[in-house]
Amino acid sequence: MIDRLAIIGVGLIGSSLALALKQANAVGQVIGYGRNRNNLEKGVELGVIDSFGSSIAETARAADVIVVAVPLGAMRPVFAELKTAVGKNAVITDVGSAKGSVVAAAKAELGELMSGFVPGHPIAGTEKSGVEAGFASLYQNRRVILTPVAETAPEATATIDQMWRDCGAVIEYLSVEHHDKVLAATSHLPHMLAYALVHHLSNLNEHEEIFRYAAGGFRDFTRIASSDPVMWRDVCLSNGEALVELIEQYQRELDRISAAIDAGDADELLKLFGRAKSERDLLIGNC
Ligand code: NAP
Repeated sequence: MIDRLAIIGVGLIGSSLALALKQANAVGQVIGYGRNRNNLEKGVELGVIDSFGSSIAETARAADVIVVAVPLGAMRPVFAELKTAVGKNAVITDVGSAKGSVVAAAKAELGELMSGFVPGHPIAGTEKSGVEAGFASLYQNRRVILTPVAETAPEATATIDQMWRDCGAVIEYLSVEHHDKVLAATSHLPHMLAYALVHHLSNLNEHEEIFRYAAGGFRDFTRIASSDPVMWRDVCLSNGEALVELIEQYQRELDRISAAIDAGDADELLKLFGRAKSERDLLIGNC
């Protein structure tokens, strides 16, 4: 049970966490912070948070656990303000989609508070943003990856591990580097493909017609292109090296398909599509 939880960034991820913990009776008070007062008032009205602070320091000061759920580019200034406000027993975690940049920002700003810092990433989300997008079942049976570092105290990790278990999540542990490499492939690259496809098609002369006749497959493939541009700009800037390597490999894959089509190479196309289908069938069957 967390007596007092501070959520810095009351959007989709922070709100869903607060709602899940409340539903599980695993939290006492939830206090939120964000820049937009209307969003915070909405959060109180919806029962996501019980109150909100007028600064990060005020919000976090009396909390047992502080969850930083802002876009990646905003993490470092938040950590800097936390350093001035909370004691060394505070447990701090984040939910950022890339971990290397967050850990670097935390090391630069948190000082001795690093022992209470547990980097984390819930592998759950939607293309929606803001407090109204939150829902209590978001983390049910979903994976949360924790990437504690050498400085992280085991007791802090145990607190955050239990917090996510109370939300119905399944916890896994990875190193920071491994997390960023794997997530670049499974999450970051697919978002780039969806953004690139929609951007490309919208530049074509026939784009209105193309979108009018778009069917289920197009909708499924491009849903994530409706995700928040600020969040995804920050993911690209935070995990650029791993992502660019994958984009280049993917470009070579497209070249291979293009060459096979150009050459009328039916066997090559069948081999490639057949292998991809069986890989995906296996993957989905295992999830
Ligand atoms: P979101 O719905 O846009 O929420 C972000 C919140 O952060 C907003 O409520 C915003 O409120 C606040 N915020 C933005 N900039 C801020 C700043 N400079 N200082 C203080 N507060 C600030 O985004 P989200 O989807 O919850 O994403 C939050 C984090 O979760 C990101 O780091 C993202 O990488 C990670 N994540 C997202 C997903 C996903 O699918 N969406 C999945 C896993 C992890 P104000 O505008 O009122 O300040």
